[in-house]
Amino acid sequence: MTEQYRPTKAVISLEAIKKNLTVFQEKSGDAKVIAVVKADAYGHGVLAVAKAVIETGVDMLAVATPDEALFLRDQGIETELLVLGATPAKFIRVAQQRNIIVTAISLDWLSMAASHLEEKLEMLKIHLKVDTGMRRIGIQLDEVDQALGIIADHDFSFNGIFTHFATADEEDSSLFNQQVHAMNSVIKQLEDPSVMVHVSNSAAAIMHPELTSDAVRVGISLYGIAPSPYVGQEMEFHLYPALSLETEIVHVKKVKAGEALSYGATYRAARDEWVGTIPIGYADGMLRGLQGQDVLVNGQRTPIIGRICMDQCMIRLSKKVPVGEKVQLIGRQGEQQIFIDEWADRLETIPYEIPCILTKRVPRVYS
Ligand code: PLP
Repeated sequence: MTEQYRPTKAVISLEAIKKNLTVFQEKSGDAKVIAVVKADAYGHGVLAVAKAVIETGVDMLAVATPDEALFLRDQGIETELLVLGATPAKFIRVAQQRNIIVTAISLDWLSMAASHLEEKLEMLKIHLKVDTGMRRIGIQLDEVDQALGIIADHDFSFNGIFTHFATADEEDSSLFNQQVHAMNSVIKQLEDPSVMVHVSNSAAAIMHPELTSDAVRVGISLYGIAPSPYVGQEMEFHLYPALSLETEIVHVKKVKAGEALSYGATYRAARDEWVGTIPIGYADGMLRGLQGQDVLVNGQRTPIIGRICMDQCMIRLSKKVPVGEKVQLIGRQGEQQIFIDEWADRLETIPYEIPCILTKRVPRVYS
């Protein structure tokens, strides 16, 4: 990595990711773990994460797009790679050449792929996606026979079949149960036992270890994050948060009682206050909605005050501290810890979004 002069950084613990993976490997028994590393490994940095999970014995990586798969191949990653999303006709030959598994998302896709197969190359490896209720991509339940027919008639290497749950992280399990039931009836139609069946995401792997399959696809919880507050509360084991976000104070001043600060002068000091400026703002993914969010200084919580600017923001200090004092935005300092979930609550979103919105300007460093 080139030298960084700004102290703002995301520190990623690869040990935490490895420990989380081990938890799932142990929990899943004979089923394999597919590590979901799409979207730059949920913002944690795909190459480092891919290498760490491969070292920990993962058999397959899943990404969302053809480009994400090619990036990993170009970086020398040789592990099995599954593209979970749609792939276009011009990628079929590339997938054959680069040993990338693609997802059959519809009957039309199967016909398209069949007409683009290059016979001189290795067979195209496909996993068939079945839409059991998510209604995003996948063949419909009444199309399964037809899909299996197209697959049998062409030189596909039919390696896997899967579905994706819409509500595995929610308390109401009615749609989840319907999806499980539908998928079980599809699996019964399969004649080839070597086709890998995989259904569970993190939430299902945590909440429903009884689901039988050959693999689980673990994304968010690989990074030590519970998929939802409901799962977090029900979970009987510990996950290790992988991402911390930290910076240092670059400027300290006293603001007098009644004085305002930052854009819009929305924050006015109730009494004389020490204020620190930290070099992180909304262009780093520290969105303006995080105004009021606590950070940690000297192991104590203290809030972000005034509007968050593009590159900087201000925090209240309980006393004068030196420039260079460490500020923890996400992660632990002393006895205190700020979880990604806290940011998600304040932004009225899900924890998945938080590491993804930290922009490229925030270097990811690995511990
Ligand atoms: N499988 C598919 C098809 C997905 O789209 C995703 C993520 O969105 C995952 C698995 C991983 O889900 P999670 O991050 O909830 O474990």
